[in-house]
This record gives sequence, C-alpha cells and structure tokens, in this order.
Amino acid sequence: MALVILSAAIATAQQGAAPISPIPAIPGITAAPLPQTSGAVGTIGGLSPSSPANPSAVAAPAGMQAPMQLASPNGERSSFNSIRVDGPYIAMTFDDGPDAKLTPRLLDILKERNIHATFFVLGERVKDHPEILQREIAEGHEVGNHSWDHKALNKLAEGGLQHELADTSELIKQTGGKPVILMRPPYGATNPRLSRAIEKEYGMKVILWSVDPDDWKDPGAHVVSERILNGWKQSGGTKPGAIILAHDIHKGTIEAMPATLDALLAKGYKFVTVSELIALESKTPAPSPTPSAQKSTKSKKRQS
Ligand SMILES: [Zn+2]
Repeated sequence: MALVILSAAIATAQQGAAPISPIPAIPGITAAPLPQTSGAVGTIGGLSPSSPANPSAVAAPAGMQAPMQLASPNGERSSFNSIRVDGPYIAMTFDDGPDAKLTPRLLDILKERNIHATFFVLGERVKDHPEILQREIAEGHEVGNHSWDHKALNKLAEGGLQHELADTSELIKQTGGKPVILMRPPYGATNPRLSRAIEKEYGMKVILWSVDPDDWKDPGAHVVSERILNGWKQSGGTKPGAIILAHDIHKGTIEAMPATLDALLAKGYKFVTVSELIALESKTPAPSPTPSAQKSTKSKKRQS
C-alpha cells in the first residue's frame, strides 16, 4: 500500500521532537514519501495554548507528535490524512463545534452552495446545542467524534478514553440517530496503537488532514482563505483528495468560507464528506514517489 505510509521517525528526526508515546516503531511501518495528493505533515511540538474561543481545549504537551498517516503491521492504515482519488474530490472538515452562532451561519453558507462537509464535534457542545447537530445531519453533512471536551487522548488512561470516545459517540447517536464512524483526535494527537484501538474497540476510523490553515489562531479571513487555496509554510494547498482542516468556532474562519468555497468550486473541485472521499479512493496503484515529494514532510505547529 503505497498511499501515505509515514513513520514517526520522519517527523521526529526532522524536528527533534519526542515521540507521542513510548511505543517503539512497529514492524511493517516504513517511511515513505507523501504522494502527490497529500499535504504537509508535521509535529505540534510547542503547541500554543488553546484559543480563547474554545476554553475547553487544553494545550497539548510539548513534543506531541503531528498528524501522521500510519499503517498497521498488516498494511492497513490506522489513520487518514488524504485520500488518493482519480477525480477532483476534496473534503472540508470543521472541528470543535457546534457553536451557537457561528455554526448556523456556516450551515447557511454551505447550503447556498450545496456543499456537504464533515463536522467533528465535541460531546460537551453537542449537549448544549443538540438542535445544531440535528441540523447538520438533516442538511446532509457528516458528523464525526472529536472527543467530549478536547483532551489529548494519547495521555488518557483507558477509563478516560471510554468517556471521551464512547460517551461522545453515544450522545451523537442519540441526538442525530446515526452511528458515528469517524473520529478526529484533538491536536491530531494519536499513535498507531491508539488509532487502532479507536477503530477496533470504538468502531471509528481516525481522520487527520492534509491542509491546515491554522485558522484557530485567527489570522484573518483573507489569510485563512489564501492558506487553504495555496498552502503556506511547508503545507501544500488544496489538491485532489485533500482533507481540509478548519474550525467552526472562529469568526474569521466563517468569514473566510464564502470566498474560499467559491474559489475551490471555480477550480472544479467537488466537495464530498470524509466517508464519501474514502469510498472514492483510487484502486489504481500509486505512482512512484518523486524525491521532491519528500520535502513536504516538514512540520509546523497546529491545533485541531
Ligand atoms: Zn479540536
């Protein structure tokens, strides 16, 4: 499986960051360059404190590893950054909501363009705004689990994991009536063992991202838009198969969406949910990696 198999060693070696967990490299996980459809992957060592708009979010410990796409020993992926597709398909994802004011505004923007997105929601926010989650589902969006209160899952004991994962999925199911099959760990903080546990024990695929505009730092709507379209720092912009990270709890993000979405539509991109994107994965073998592709494995700070 040539599609994005990265070893923790790549990011760790480049950043000098400590691995997320003491788990040693798993046999079968080998370093490989990113394919053309994948964006930057990095570390979140030195992660900044939570944004004020998301008081429930906690700062991840320094040295925490970045979102990576990992493979289990049998070659199956335990997480997804992007999907290799044969068409112009991309998935827009929004984390940390629902927000009482901003999420409905975003839903209006998406509805006007007939775009379906994927919302990775927090259990504690769904509890406060069940009607917004119901609207997301009613309007054709996909809903995934983003934990109960934005804890770094790789630092939790098993009991805590049960609350963050199972209780959140149960609440989403009770509120929206659908089983939850996708999970995005807060901060992208995961490791192969945790990702496999989330899939095998809790029934959810771990979804990371390939495009990250750092919108949670509120750089302004224009900047958010520019970063999503064209990339920034070592992050590539949107390409076919991209999973784009954004947050529906920041005003600047919502203000960036009309122009961003219109520009992506004008380029011919087709928006699908994350599950739809995974289902569209190309069955053709990936092309041989090029040396230049390896340069995109640089890292940067981030929060999800
Ligand atoms: Zn988050």
